[in-house]
Amino acid sequence: MIAESHSRAVVLRAFNVPLAIESAPVPEPGPGAVVAQVGLAGVCGTDVHLHHGQLPIPLPIILGHEGVGRVQRLGDGVATDFTGHSLREGDAIAWSSNIPCGHCHWCVVAGERTLCETRKVYGVNQRFDELPRLSGSWADAIYLQPGSAIFRLPDDVTPEQAIALGCAGPTAVHGVIDVTGITAGDTVVVQGSGPVGIASAMYAHLAGAARVILVGGPASRLDLAREIGVGDAHIDIFAFPDPAERVRLVLDATPGRRGADVVLECAGAPEAVAEGWEMARRGGSFLALGQYTDRGPTPLNPHLITRKQLRILGSWGFAEKHYLGHIQALPRLAARFDLSRLITRYPLEDANRALADMAAGRVMKPVLDVSRES
Ligand SMILES: [Zn+2]
Ligand SMILES: [Zn+2]
Repeated sequence: MIAESHSRAVVLRAFNVPLAIESAPVPEPGPGAVVAQVGLAGVCGTDVHLHHGQLPIPLPIILGHEGVGRVQRLGDGVATDFTGHSLREGDAIAWSSNIPCGHCHWCVVAGERTLCETRKVYGVNQRFDELPRLSGSWADAIYLQPGSAIFRLPDDVTPEQAIALGCAGPTAVHGVIDVTGITAGDTVVVQGSGPVGIASAMYAHLAGAARVILVGGPASRLDLAREIGVGDAHIDIFAFPDPAERVRLVLDATPGRRGADVVLECAGAPEAVAEGWEMARRGGSFLALGQYTDRGPTPLNPHLITRKQLRILGSWGFAEKHYLGHIQALPRLAARFDLSRLITRYPLEDANRALADMAAGRVMKPVLDVSRES
């Protein structure tokens, strides 16, 4: 491991123009903080939206809210990770992208830390022109502030496996496991075959779903899902562009044509919600998980909620416990699914190409290989 005094960083200074690599000094960690050497940094659909100015964020920032790497320097008072495992320099780690404030109504009274209104999020709302500056993972080093949830990777989990689902992994733990409570024998529809859809389908499988129907596209993403055993049936939205036809295909694939017990919306397109309600059975559940970016209103028929007695659910990102759940589930996920197949690697210098490939859906999961160990 080489400790450099300066770190390269991919900085977003203006929307919709190519990102540039800049340099910043790597500070010594203060009390309670950790400086990590980034190994692999994920590129997420949200990064595309950030680049296009579709979320309210400050500028400039270093992008990157997904990362794994190694401990470079421990600040005073840091001896363990989030779970109490001892932590030493050189240890392989992952870290949660967000730090809830820990003292607001949502953090303390409601106990819903995902709803904290002043949470800090690496790669999203921590300015590059304010100390400690290195607050995104698209860089050689990241400064993990006091309060960060850091996890030493289990010995049987590789960095590739830990980054393969990116933020979609803990997002699915929150939405699919915690919020919908999928149970054994359920028929589950997943709308969307990007990382959130794939992660949600994987967790539905692990939770014991009898049948997982993946509705998405393009075909290359569905093919990859099929090859690694994600989804029992696959419906290509480009081959079947008519939503009514897709609803019919889904109903045909459910017991008694009653519809799905649970519909997981992971598509991000507002119009997917109306379609998802049609796919759910009477008394079924619908979770909106993919509407992370506000893309505006969409026509809906509320009569369906009443007539079908639908449970309409929402889930926003994840908190530390969901990240922990994902880390703990990784050995089982990796044993069942070839997670490394999801990844396409790019050098840090090619961040713009990685972002463009993500935007076009050409790859499942672009990952910036930041390692200087070669
Ligand atoms: Zn993300
Ligand atoms: Zn809070």
